[in-house]
Amino acid sequence: MTRVDPSFLKLQRNYLFADIARKVANFKDSHPDARVISLGIGDVTRPLVPAVISALHAAVDEMGDAAHFHGYGPEQGYAFLRDLIMEYDYKARGVDIRPDEIFVSDGAKSDVGNFQELFSRDSVVAVTDPVYPVYVDSNVMAGRAGDWTDGHWSRIVYLPCTRENDFVPAFPATRPDLIYLCYPNNPTGTVLTRAQLQGWVDYARREGCVILYDSAYEAYIQDADVPHSIYELEGAREVAVEFRSFSKTAGFTGLRCAYTVVPESLMVDDGRGGRVALNGFWNRRQCTKYNGCPYIVQRAAAAVYSEAGRREVMDVIRGYQRNASLLREAVSGMGLPVFGGVNAPYIWVGVPRGMDSWGFFERLLNEAALVCTPGVGFGASGEGYVRLTAFGSPADTEEAIARLRRLA
Ligand code: PLP
Repeated sequence: MTRVDPSFLKLQRNYLFADIARKVANFKDSHPDARVISLGIGDVTRPLVPAVISALHAAVDEMGDAAHFHGYGPEQGYAFLRDLIMEYDYKARGVDIRPDEIFVSDGAKSDVGNFQELFSRDSVVAVTDPVYPVYVDSNVMAGRAGDWTDGHWSRIVYLPCTRENDFVPAFPATRPDLIYLCYPNNPTGTVLTRAQLQGWVDYARREGCVILYDSAYEAYIQDADVPHSIYELEGAREVAVEFRSFSKTAGFTGLRCAYTVVPESLMVDDGRGGRVALNGFWNRRQCTKYNGCPYIVQRAAAAVYSEAGRREVMDVIRGYQRNASLLREAVSGMGLPVFGGVNAPYIWVGVPRGMDSWGFFERLLNEAALVCTPGVGFGASGEGYVRLTAFGSPADTEEAIARLRRLA
């Protein structure tokens, strides 16, 4: 009989969001009049901005007209979008990235999940702890994670990020081949300064590692000392791949558009004594398995870079940033340690002494009808924290804050 790849049998069920949903449903059953507010949403709530909507309408009309219809497009993305990305996301920041190094796609999740296919099966993977689970599970599926014992994968190198190290991961004792870094970070909302990220780039150059840099939340950066792109750091073109997304930048979670940068100068060992460029392999992989992001979606993404688009998108982001800053204040007012939320839409809260992540989750739910995400769901080092998100509506966020104040 046909057999499944045994790696898929190793996957651990992620109970986090199912457990949250069950506890919230039980609470609603026993408190039918309570208005539950979620501070756990990982999705945006504001609609697409007008500039994007008009670009979508115009592109839809083009598709109904034989003279302007678009069928299969370039797998790497249309030149009109790759040129804008180069111009606004890189050149404007003094970074030299060429359109041939940019690959447009339908999402950063698929790209960060798929990119590991390019590396040898025995590559050692390092992830921060807590972590966005896609980095880990995609490597479990590929047979690279080893066995699940005592709450961790035997072949994965974990880089704990806690208040003790200021959420700055230390270099690991064992040299990994691949290092997943996500800044601004999901779930902690913390960032690396220019000097700290330069440290990781230097480490990767010294040790011959590749950094898979997820900057899906780049648009939320406010501090001047926080790099927007890893390529702002010296030598990063030789060691790093960068993943970006229009999801949290411009509300494209339902529309789907992202891109991945693979510099021509990023080389790895070919196992035969030579070196090969990853750019050509990612191009080949995408051309083989992917037929490109829809034309109308790419037109919508291009509109994000128009003058009106940039202004409108920034207004939405400022609204989420305001939510984040109010939530930070309210949590500090409760006397709890609060991290993140300045350069990211996520706020990472240290739970009260003597409680654990789930205990505080229960308290917020039962005493304030608020839903958060227990930090332990993102990894062992997330125990003792919960994650709040700033993606709620202003009205819900203000109501949530009033409830937090009453709880304090
Ligand atoms: N990377 C990180 C760190 C995320 O938190 C998310 C979404 O929550 C993604 C990638 C997914 O982005 P996309 O919507 O482009 O697939």
